[in-house]
Amino acid sequence: MSLPSFCPYEEAADRQSPNRNLAPLTAAVDLAQQLWVGGCRLADLAAHYGTPLYVLDEATLRSSCQAYGKAMARHYPGEALVLYASKAHSSLAMAALMASEGLGLDVVSAGELLTGLAGGVDPQKMILHGNNKSVVELELAIDHGVTLVLDNWLELDLLEQLCHQRQQRVRLLIRFTPGIECHTHEYIRTGHLDSKFGFDPGELDMVLQRLARAPWAEVAGLHAHIGSQIFELQPHRDLAAVMVQAMGRARQLGHHPKDLNVGGGLGVRYVARDDPPAISTWVQAVCEALVAACEQQHQPLPRLLCEPGRSIVAPAGLTLYQVGSRKEIPGGRTYIAVDGGMSDNPRPITYQAPYTACLPQRCREAGTHTVTVAGKHCESGDVLLQNIALPPIRSGDLLAVLSTGAYNASMASNYNRIPRPAAVLVQDGQAVLVQRRETNQDLLRWDVLPEHLRQSDLAGIR
Ligand SMILES: *Cc1c(COP(=O)(O)O)cnc(C)c1O
Repeated sequence: MSLPSFCPYEEAADRQSPNRNLAPLTAAVDLAQQLWVGGCRLADLAAHYGTPLYVLDEATLRSSCQAYGKAMARHYPGEALVLYASKAHSSLAMAALMASEGLGLDVVSAGELLTGLAGGVDPQKMILHGNNKSVVELELAIDHGVTLVLDNWLELDLLEQLCHQRQQRVRLLIRFTPGIECHTHEYIRTGHLDSKFGFDPGELDMVLQRLARAPWAEVAGLHAHIGSQIFELQPHRDLAAVMVQAMGRARQLGHHPKDLNVGGGLGVRYVARDDPPAISTWVQAVCEALVAACEQQHQPLPRLLCEPGRSIVAPAGLTLYQVGSRKEIPGGRTYIAVDGGMSDNPRPITYQAPYTACLPQRCREAGTHTVTVAGKHCESGDVLLQNIALPPIRSGDLLAVLSTGAYNASMASNYNRIPRPAAVLVQDGQAVLVQRRETNQDLLRWDVLPEHLRQSDLAGIR
């Protein structure tokens, strides 16, 4: 099968760095104006699996992983490890795919940790984050030899108790807020000093001193994460320098830290005006700043860890919807409604996040009509795209929202008791189910109807 490798929404596709594209790398439009991804015609996927449907392109995922790996090898003279931030999209298939590319996993809960293990990720390549980890989560990490990111004093006390009780040691990265501001939405900014995550830099000495007297803990290194969907390079350069200084302080206080973890945060392209740096550019900036800071401060090169989430999975994904009703407001806007919305993509209502959409069955038609794409939930704010130009739309058309691979499936809910969509992974003309569509029966599974409210009892009362 040969397809013209042209995507109208992606005229300047950057094949080296998927995060700079709106569509997956394998997106192609045929002569019948049909959009294909991973060698699969999207209309066929919708017909077979139903809508809404999450589609993930395996080639794009692998390409993103490899872009990080290659850039690390080229720009960093020391050891390095890329850990995929699984909160961006956690599933068995993703965990297994990341493991097959040699990546580690960053997890933030028992659920994500167990998903990683079941997906075949080496626990020694996993780290557990969280600003309020439960005892069960801490124990799980200790038992599997997963590195813990120490976040706060309560956790330090808990870990000390647990390790004493269980006669176990734990490998720790200490998370602190580096005091670096960056320009992104306030909910996804984490590096500034009043963030809820990690220790204040002013407390770092005290933490390090206490851990210097803790035989149960190995201070393996330091961690910081400054935020998400970041397009600037300078905050990451600044971060490297701040962290090298903190590594030096840890050494002065008797530790032998090996790992310097700069977190994730590289942005992706959601709309045409977005222009994030390429993965290789980001890695190069981080590596050069780190090497320079180590030289300047006479510190050895650490093992460099980073934790990209969004930049690996966002561009590999898109969501297919079917268009239903429309509402034309006289003198106002035209709404078209799709069969999903904020329950499968909560980012627009949460962060006012913008997206791009197209009609996968009429790709070459000009966008002559300005419409607002609404979801089907009982919430006026349930709008997926504001004022976008599309060809004339009819009820029954398919609509594809692009770059939905990150923080969509993982943040999905059952609001309005809407079952969560299925997810398929596509490659070379094959589609495989990686997440089964929830059914209405699934939604009732966790409900318990108390005895005294059962209809028969109520009938008795009447
Ligand atoms: C969210 C998060 C990441 C991933 O961020 P992206 O912007 O998706 O790359 C990495 N590390 C930590 C600690 C995070 O909280």
